[in-house]
Amino acid sequence: MNEEIKNKILHTIESYETIVVSRHIRPDGDAVGSTKGFTKILRDTFPEKKIYLTDEDFSDYLAFCGGEDSVPEEVYKDALLIVIDTGTRKRISNSNYAKAQKIIKIDHHIEADPYGDINWVEDFRSSACEMIADFCVTFRDRLKIAPEAATFIYMGMVTDSGRFRFEGVSGETLRLAAAMLDYGVDYETLFAHLYTEDFATLKFKSFIYDHIQITKNGVAYIYMDSAMQEKFALSFEEASNVVSELDAIKGSLIWVAFIDNVAKGNIRVRLRSRFLGINDIAIRHHGGGHNMAAGATVFSVEEMYELIEEADALLGEYKATHGGWL
Ligand code: AMP
Repeated sequence: MNEEIKNKILHTIESYETIVVSRHIRPDGDAVGSTKGFTKILRDTFPEKKIYLTDEDFSDYLAFCGGEDSVPEEVYKDALLIVIDTGTRKRISNSNYAKAQKIIKIDHHIEADPYGDINWVEDFRSSACEMIADFCVTFRDRLKIAPEAATFIYMGMVTDSGRFRFEGVSGETLRLAAAMLDYGVDYETLFAHLYTEDFATLKFKSFIYDHIQITKNGVAYIYMDSAMQEKFALSFEEASNVVSELDAIKGSLIWVAFIDNVAKGNIRVRLRSRFLGINDIAIRHHGGGHNMAAGATVFSVEEMYELIEEADALLGEYKATHGGWL
């Protein structure tokens, strides 16, 4: 059903000598995996082309994936830019993106900004890596897919789907993940990188559990203010990861992490839910994302409490009108 657009993308890639690949700011496993994996495939398949990957923003926990050389500004005027896993142009981690001759957008977020000349957007996909895996399988006879590339793509599929647990995981997800495994994914090393923790981190988690709050209707939230971040010498990214500590509380179908962004003077919001959507709340607070995983920004502690009240009211209404939730 998406054959036409994939063919168009491959033809466009074939017609350009210079290609730049980019992802979103604050890159996660899917952003890094999809761009690293796709770049590796393009470099191996088209060794005569100049293929770059922008690396302007960085997440410490993915440092094991390796860095990239910077991209000379002058290459953009003749370049094709492929932006993966990035819903809006505001979130593109590439200060030169608008200088590219043509842009291809490959993304799995709800469409809010079709900034590409070609937009391949499938919001039912559990990850952008799932789309890259689909592209690989479609053109398996024309692309060189090394084990390293497959490992990057598998990493994004695993991380963005919460190890194949979240909404959007389908039979097709697992068939495509299986196809990546067949290319030789080194999952033992990958999982050791992704899922082992320092003892100090576990100590930190015990502190977090002491500070989680639950609203009347069951919204779990935590406010990682600047003092907490300082106490544990956390980077902003590390502090932001706290959202994953809130995701398994019985009855808390919505959970939210608020993280002081000292550099910007605002508070980052990470919203998550099961059974009901929270994207509308994110949109009301300068954000967006997916139905059950979204991001936002609030500009004061008062606005933070407004958002919590909105989430609490939503969850209260859901529980009053639905049975069967856990
Ligand atoms: P995060 O909590 O930052 O991981 O965000 C959850 C999802 O929402 C990710 O897929 C993000 O790409 C998306 N997202 C986060 N912030 C925004 C925003 N301000 N606008 C649109 N999408 C966002």
